[in-house]
Amino acid sequence: MECSGPEPALTDRLLRSWLRCRRRAWLDRFGLASERQWNAHRALALSDQLRSFQTLLPQRPGHGEAACAAGAAGVVGLRLRGAGPQGVGLESHPSLLERIAGQSRWGAYAYRPVLARQGRRLTREARVVLALWGRLLAEHQQAPVPHGLVVAGEGRFLQRERLALASGLQHQLDESLQRLAADLAQSTPPPLVSDRKKCTLCSWRGVCDKEAAAMGHLSEVSGIGGKRREMLLEQGVTSLPDLAARDPELLAEALAAYGEQHREIAAELVAQARVQASGLPQRLGCGPVLPELAAAPGVLLYDIESDPDARDDFLHGFVVLESDGAGGWLEQSARYQPLLALQEHGEQRLWQRLQRLLARYPDWPVLHYGETEVIGLVRLAQRQGASEAEVARLRGRMVDVHARLRRHWRLPVSSYGLKTVAGWLGFAWSQKGVDGARCLLWWRQWRQWHRQGGSRGQASRYQLQRIFLYNRDDSLATWAVVRWLLAQP
Ligand code: SF4
Repeated sequence: MECSGPEPALTDRLLRSWLRCRRRAWLDRFGLASERQWNAHRALALSDQLRSFQTLLPQRPGHGEAACAAGAAGVVGLRLRGAGPQGVGLESHPSLLERIAGQSRWGAYAYRPVLARQGRRLTREARVVLALWGRLLAEHQQAPVPHGLVVAGEGRFLQRERLALASGLQHQLDESLQRLAADLAQSTPPPLVSDRKKCTLCSWRGVCDKEAAAMGHLSEVSGIGGKRREMLLEQGVTSLPDLAARDPELLAEALAAYGEQHREIAAELVAQARVQASGLPQRLGCGPVLPELAAAPGVLLYDIESDPDARDDFLHGFVVLESDGAGGWLEQSARYQPLLALQEHGEQRLWQRLQRLLARYPDWPVLHYGETEVIGLVRLAQRQGASEAEVARLRGRMVDVHARLRRHWRLPVSSYGLKTVAGWLGFAWSQKGVDGARCLLWWRQWRQWHRQGGSRGQASRYQLQRIFLYNRDDSLATWAVVRWLLAQP
């Protein structure tokens, strides 16, 4: 990698990337654009940010330097430049500037930067980026910026928090900028992030997944997160093949030094690594995996789509699949039945619709993948005053396919999530590259149009169809896992 010539500026976007994962900033600058994948999380964050900003400043913000000079209440699109440690160039585009009392080079007012928080807590990443905005803004407006504003939520739920941009934070900023510059001066990217859960939100995931698989990175072993990986590295276990070759008892002794609970997982980690190294699934114990299905007249495959921030289970999707009475299943005539749960219609109506649907297929097991569905449905029933007996009956019908799979099989997969397991079985989703985040983005767009009176009828219907298709495919993927489980001797 050629790194000579004038250094490009360090931007707030690079800094943000670096604070999430050092490698990510390097790839942002030097990675191949063709290998970068679009991901819905940024679009989701931008739409949340827009709603927060519109609540904070209902009038349209002005743009750039001219708006600052005119004293606009809010300003977007202002490019700020300055110099960082060792003279490195800095550049940032604050998401929003809010006019406040003060004295600046534009007159008897000044600005402060506003940042939209994601999630429930303000992260270090957000603090340091806000500190950069504050520092460059202070130089630009020739007036101090002692604090920034952090907002979250919208409407009457808008939260505001003043964040002091004090010397401790400025120190963190300088240190981060120095380390970022040092990483970007390297000819090879920093290593994969230790806790690869962070990769879910990253546009370089495809590149890094390939590298992790090729090098047998320990994070490829299902059950190994950042902390366990650190422990294993300290014990000299450096890769998946290395872990697979270990003696489980010796490893258990070594891991016990970090706490008794780690002794117990050693054997499981070695066994999982061996299955992944061999590529062959391993049966655990004996006995039927899904005895409920032997005499069932049919099954309901159930999947919920949720908006976690709004605590809204907005779609309850079912695939109705009948048995042929002779050990087979009438897959060709399976029917998808979505129940859209609009909050304005109230939970009672949703519960009645769910009860009616479940009552239509009284002895049919309800199959789902993971705990979300049983937790969501049982809580809904309890909130709606269902009796204990009714809740017990409901629970008795629910079959968590993920839990059964884990109890009876060890698979050569890096994760037991539905996407990975069904993908390993050859199941293909009908919409390429769609994930839960993209579905959530579609939902939020649809809900926005719907609240505005459905003015984009055709587009809005199409959006809903795509959400339904994604939800139906998740149920069919669950069925692909069930079918495989039933087919095993
Ligand atoms: S995919 Fe993961 S390891 Fe790769 S750059 Fe992104 S966060 Fe870092």
